[in-house]
Amino acid sequence: MKRKPIGWLSKGRSVVLMGLDNAGKSTLVSQWTRGVIEKTVTTIGLDIEHVEIKGEKFNLIDLGGQQPFRITIWKTYAQMAQGVIFVFDITDKLRVKEAVEWFWKVVEWLREDAPIIFCANKIDLRDQKKIDAMSLEEIINIFKLDKLSQENYVQHSFRIFEISAKTGENVEDAMQWIFGRVIGSDEKSKIKAVLIHSIEDNTTLLELPFTEEFEDISKHENLADILEYNTKLFTKSQSTMQYYEHENYDAYVFAHEGYICLIVAEKEAEYNSIRITGQSILSVINVLRQENKLTPEFLKWVVKESFGA
Ligand code: GDP
Repeated sequence: MKRKPIGWLSKGRSVVLMGLDNAGKSTLVSQWTRGVIEKTVTTIGLDIEHVEIKGEKFNLIDLGGQQPFRITIWKTYAQMAQGVIFVFDITDKLRVKEAVEWFWKVVEWLREDAPIIFCANKIDLRDQKKIDAMSLEEIINIFKLDKLSQENYVQHSFRIFEISAKTGENVEDAMQWIFGRVIGSDEKSKIKAVLIHSIEDNTTLLELPFTEEFEDISKHENLADILEYNTKLFTKSQSTMQYYEHENYDAYVFAHEGYICLIVAEKEAEYNSIRITGQSILSVINVLRQENKLTPEFLKWVVKESFGA
């Protein structure tokens, strides 16, 4: 049986929406995707839109509320993202402190080359006398946004947009800007296969081969040995990383909280990007497990959809 290689990470690059609940993230997505939308996938707390821009496919991910798990899931997605859209409700003065904290956490987690935009949303409400909306100057001061243009943050491209997700004002400009940056930063996947294994049950939860060579990963001579060895080696609480060199590929083993993520990559793959991928998968597993959603089907769905099927 021939399986089609899945272009995980290579085809679908991800732009992630972040911000407190009620900031206007979903409104922004539905406003902007009118016309460009290809497919909507909705599940509890994780909405993914597949959009095509200039012939390239993107995943636009709205992480939703997810209060208890926000920190893990946000961190994971921030690390994976090729771009971040941070949405802030300019009328939400009560929770501004909370929004500031999250914004800077996100900036800290982001990959160095990932662009970020700050969308000061709901500017249509500025015209309403009864509503006390923040001015751009106030926002820049409170969020200390000028820090992002200072020396130690030069690696991120950053811009502020004042938008109304409701009326659509400046939405196109903001999205053009962020996707323009992401398109410019092409990144090819060097991953050949991924396997996820539960140490406790000694069962394989997920096998994702990206090339025919690794169609049957768990039966692949060297990899099966690596997996068996590591399953015996790690106890439930250990977090670790191992690295195995082979003639045509390298194998990386990440273990955390009873799960092993085995990644097979090309020789020239960049260690850091493999590490982020491995750790991200393991933290997604963690979140799914805490939410009682860790089934092989759901895990496959999340991995494929969020990281680009
Ligand atoms: P999310 O939780 O961040 O996804 O926020 P939603 O997109 O669900 O929006 C929260 C509420 O704010 C909804 O009632 C929206 O209709 C409203 N909203 C979102 N964007 C705007 C905007 O630009 N202007 C106004 N007036 N309301 C907005």
